[in-house]
Amino acid sequence: MSDHKIQQIRIHQILIPAKAVHSHGSGDVAGINSVILEVVTDTGLTGWGEASPWPVFTGTREGNAAALHVHLRPHLMGQDPVQVEKHMAMADRVLVGHPEAKAAMEMALLDITGQITGLQVCELVGARMRDDMGMSFSVANPDFNADLEDIAAMWEDGVRIFKFKTGFAEHSFDVMRAEKLRQLYGDEIDIRIDYNQGLRAYDAVRCIRDLEQFRPTFVEQPVKMHEREALAHITHVIDTPIMADESVFDPKGALYGAQIRIADVFSLKIMKSGGIRRALEVAAIARAAGIEVYGGCMFETGLAHAAGTHLMAAVPDLHLQAEFYMATYYAADDILVDPFPVRHGRIHVPTAPGLGVKVDPDKLAHYAQAEVLE
Ligand SMILES: [Mg+2]
Repeated sequence: MSDHKIQQIRIHQILIPAKAVHSHGSGDVAGINSVILEVVTDTGLTGWGEASPWPVFTGTREGNAAALHVHLRPHLMGQDPVQVEKHMAMADRVLVGHPEAKAAMEMALLDITGQITGLQVCELVGARMRDDMGMSFSVANPDFNADLEDIAAMWEDGVRIFKFKTGFAEHSFDVMRAEKLRQLYGDEIDIRIDYNQGLRAYDAVRCIRDLEQFRPTFVEQPVKMHEREALAHITHVIDTPIMADESVFDPKGALYGAQIRIADVFSLKIMKSGGIRRALEVAAIARAAGIEVYGGCMFETGLAHAAGTHLMAAVPDLHLQAEFYMATYYAADDILVDPFPVRHGRIHVPTAPGLGVKVDPDKLAHYAQAEVLE
């Protein structure tokens, strides 16, 4: 038990515009639509959390704001913030779904717990297994020439991992882009492919085989999220590693995914699993099954990126790195006081207690989309 009690909860809703529209197999995205959770204790500590939904994938901003304001708030007020698992169990009991709201709640509680104990979030959930990790950028502009300019600039910055989004236009466009990147950057570029459910199951194998000649490190979520047996079949017949993203959300999904060997890799995302601890449970199931993990993200500010970075810092083995690039290379602005720490193509794990990042209240006000709920 700590001597701290939750005294105030504020819920902000923001929209940060993107530098450029990103196209995905499941739709276009023009910005970061997030719920920012501010939890204040009677001792004056503030913990921050973020829910970053995507309506075609996990949920909506409005739904997650209501989840936190109406359904979770009454159970948190006056409570001891460090009893994190107890609050997570409560959230699962009183509210179905809304993993992004639950992730935001856990983030804020761990942020406060870290400030109380002087420990970083990665240490609270496991250990600081690494200080940094490679950063993957997602190439998803329908205008490929604009993408080529962005890639060239990032190459100068030291970025070497590029995941390009496929399945939103013609198959020939996907083949052309993969060929071009391999031609321009040779063996030095690490190419990954993400269909975001964009292929039809009946001809997915043929399309993926066409792209294999360009030696992608993995192919992510070629078919619809519910087509799990089709995904397992693709994994079985394709030599290139297949990653499950939309098809594996939480530990229950991971267990079924491991049972049918749905993929060679699971994308871990705190917005899918409902927080860092549940994502580590997914990682534990993957590890036991010989399935690799990868650090995925949604359309997030540097705040949720920081939480994801702590998650991936705590994972015992990490070979495929992570993609926390939004705050640096996608959004036109961020809500953090200091820039999210990406240098020379690598994401650096924050070192201050808790999440180790500070939110700028002026930025929250500037990008506000609704009244603050309190
Ligand atoms: Mg994905």
